[in-house]
Amino acid sequence: MVLDNLGGSLRGALKKIASATRVDKALVDDAVRDIQRALLQADVNVKLVMSLSNRIRERALNEKPPAGMNPREHVINIVYQELINLIGRGTDIPLKKQTIMLVGLQGSGKTTTAAKLATYFQRRGLRTAVICADTFRAGAYDQLKALCDRQGIFFYGEKGNENAPEVAKNGLEATKKYDVRIVDTAGRHALESDLIQEMKDIHAVVNADHKLLVMDAAIGQQASEQARAFNEAVGITGVIITKLDGTAKGGGALSAVAETKTSVAFIGVGETASDLEKFEADRFISRLLGMGDIKGLIEKAQEVQIESDVDVDAMMKGKFTLKDMYKQLEAMNKMGPLKQIMQMLPFGGIGIELSDKEYQVTKERLEAYRFIMDSMTDEELEDPKIINASRIKRIARGSGTRPELVKELLKSHAAMQKAIKGMRGGMGRMNMKKLMK
Ligand code: GDP
Repeated sequence: MVLDNLGGSLRGALKKIASATRVDKALVDDAVRDIQRALLQADVNVKLVMSLSNRIRERALNEKPPAGMNPREHVINIVYQELINLIGRGTDIPLKKQTIMLVGLQGSGKTTTAAKLATYFQRRGLRTAVICADTFRAGAYDQLKALCDRQGIFFYGEKGNENAPEVAKNGLEATKKYDVRIVDTAGRHALESDLIQEMKDIHAVVNADHKLLVMDAAIGQQASEQARAFNEAVGITGVIITKLDGTAKGGGALSAVAETKTSVAFIGVGETASDLEKFEADRFISRLLGMGDIKGLIEKAQEVQIESDVDVDAMMKGKFTLKDMYKQLEAMNKMGPLKQIMQMLPFGGIGIELSDKEYQVTKERLEAYRFIMDSMTDEELEDPKIINASRIKRIARGSGTRPELVKELLKSHAAMQKAIKGMRGGMGRMNMKKLMK
């Protein structure tokens, strides 16, 4: 999961508050120290950490909890709000006709991101084209073309033409009828003056609606310098932080964004075309703090346009039958790696961890689950608690499976139900909806 260690430490600090008997200066100081340590370890800039912790301390000790919120919830809510302030609200890239130029250093994940971003718009119904204006790196053309071909995205490039602004210009001409046009540019290993000049030249031709800086989450404190240089050259309108799935240090990139007064538009969380997420600060922080990412889950479900009539409201009220579980598994199976989807749910910190076995609901297992459920009565499907040993035997026989598999299904259901209850409960008695606002 994104910034696992940071999330773990922050959750630890919040748990301390949630379980404290009273909120006083000692508790606040202790929690603030934990938060500072967690942020510094994740490479968040010291200055930012200090001003954040001062604000948390100040507010936690002086502000009165609003009606309906106890002092513990209030302090947790302050931490949540201040973390959101720290990373900024995020750049909203609307779903409309536009040109987007990507800039960034070599290895930042720019090429991969161009294809991911195109996939993002294409899946939302916009006709999307990618223009390869990276004429510097040998192999960029082939890599990007292959990625686009795989996703059925129109690709424009000119092999052999080293004049990047010219390629960009021709590309825009050739892709006039597309809604979203993404121009990928070349990087260098380091910030070099010819790179900056090239960006200016391409920018002069493309005049994109959005100029997004692609940054590797792991670059740490150099992020600020990069953000500043690209910002001066082309005026970046947002940042895409890549590889947040694989680093404990994303704080450097996040700090650079805060310092340069830009904001994050997307985050890259894996290597495949769908591993790009629209960045929303509240969602990101909720997830980091283990408050769950229900919104993310729902958005992902809509993206693949699955027809799933899982009753989320009923689920949030704690009603989660075997039928719901089946629908849920079926939907998740269509959405791609189950593990990733499951990790969006707040099992991590406060809820429970599902074992690897529970993640691995393969097609065959789903098939077997279907047979098993077909052999259950409606009463059993609605209320699996009544399924005793003799019923298990009957169901196994009826479905042509084994009692162990029936038990496994029931166990998975119990685990998921428990997780969903955890999701409702959040931290102790905390009202999650209130916090996620
Ligand atoms: P470029 O030189 O900036 O164009 O970088 P590439 O797009 O070629 O990416 C460099 C490497 O980073 C490739 O191996 C990508 O698969 C990988 N990569 C890019 N984005 C992500 C991400 O969000 N997560 C992970 N884990 N890997 C990524």
